[in-house]
Amino acid sequence: MEITELKLTGVSFGPLEKPFWNSIKKTTTSGGGRLEIHTDEGLVGMAPTGAGGVKRAHILGSMSKQLVGEDPLRIGYLWDKMYMGGARKPVAKGEYINSMSAVDIALWDLKGKALDQPVWKLAGGVQERVEAYAAGGYYEEGKTVEDLCTELTSYVEAGFRAVKMKIGWPGVTLRHDAERVQSVREAIGPDIELMIDANNAWDGRTALRFARMMESSDPYWFEEPVRADDFRGGAMLVEKLDIPVASGENEFTRWGARDLIDAKAADIIQLDPNTCGGISEWLKIAAFASAHHLKMAPHGNPNIGSTCVAAVDNGLITENYPTAFKNKLMLPVDFRSDGFIYMSDAPGLSIE
Ligand SMILES: [Mg+2]
Repeated sequence: MEITELKLTGVSFGPLEKPFWNSIKKTTTSGGGRLEIHTDEGLVGMAPTGAGGVKRAHILGSMSKQLVGEDPLRIGYLWDKMYMGGARKPVAKGEYINSMSAVDIALWDLKGKALDQPVWKLAGGVQERVEAYAAGGYYEEGKTVEDLCTELTSYVEAGFRAVKMKIGWPGVTLRHDAERVQSVREAIGPDIELMIDANNAWDGRTALRFARMMESSDPYWFEEPVRADDFRGGAMLVEKLDIPVASGENEFTRWGARDLIDAKAADIIQLDPNTCGGISEWLKIAAFASAHHLKMAPHGNPNIGSTCVAAVDNGLITENYPTAFKNKLMLPVDFRSDGFIYMSDAPGLSIE
């Protein structure tokens, strides 16, 4: 089998009725895209991906040149070829790796279809169902603490046993954010896990002050309390807090993950297969984390995330977006009212 063509299709749904934001970024539009890898045997591998700008240039430019004519089942060889090739040098992080991730994911989808097996099984097949948490609790214009509690309670009513909310926006005080967390804890009760996500808002000391204010709310994890490259701050928090620190969604490749883990800057590892180098790279990172007795909780798209979590021995939980960032392009995962995503036996990644 030979790769014949890479195709990218972008889709825009235009401006959001209700923009929302986390501590650093406001989301005002929605959209997405699809990468297709075509072969001479008629099989097509697919991946969800952004389809504009630099990514478009990388995928349709140097990556297409490197892939067309090659055997799509040799994913490791093609990964190395892309990593060492093109105009990448000396960029080992960022948009080039991000673009490679989409290609790698589409290659895995293709391999699953060629072998008539689901990718989660080909990659290890450890769990037939994976726990999912609802990621929400964003800031919005006019959104009250009561609205926030209503939102997160609705996820619990839908079956989620774990929910996540945002903190750290400079428009509110630490004290107010701590009160938001406490109000949500009271609303959802003591038995639902509550994650809090600062999206790189703070330096280590500020994050520590905040953690002290809200530790009585019993958070399940404290996500990206400090800048993505502040391993020193992350390590200080890991050392001082009883709350697990989660991080890694802004890190790339096994080498970036190695540095994060070696620095002891996180307890829960969140590299995103859609950006860190694809499913191939994510599996290597999961193996390195497993050797350190650390669990994986990938950021991002639940369709790809659940495949990764299901594949490995240290897959903890999958991110899912019931409202914000809800994917309008793909068929949803099989999330059930017991809080788990059930893995499909369909070949490939089951993305349609
Ligand atoms: Mg996050």
